[in-house]
Amino acid sequence: MGFFSKQQIFDSTKEDKDPHQFQINGTIITCLHCSGVQFVQKQILLNTPGMTFFSLDWANKTAFTLTCTKCSQILWFLQAPDVVK
Ligand SMILES: [Zn+2]
Repeated sequence: MGFFSKQQIFDSTKEDKDPHQFQINGTIITCLHCSGVQFVQKQILLNTPGMTFFSLDWANKTAFTLTCTKCSQILWFLQAPDVVK
């Protein structure tokens, strides 16, 4: 299994589906719609036509979404948000 294997980069079975509070650069993330602070995180693959053409979708960058548990608004981030403990 190489460094760029599909499982290492994009394995939805390892995602934490429990809601948490998150922060980025020391700022607590708040829902833009309802001001909620509990989110479920998901890793999303960003497809590009070139990589799809060569069947290399797995090598594309990933983004991170936080779905608000109160209103379901989805927030997108390129860097992984940190869980607030
Ligand atoms: Zn919300």
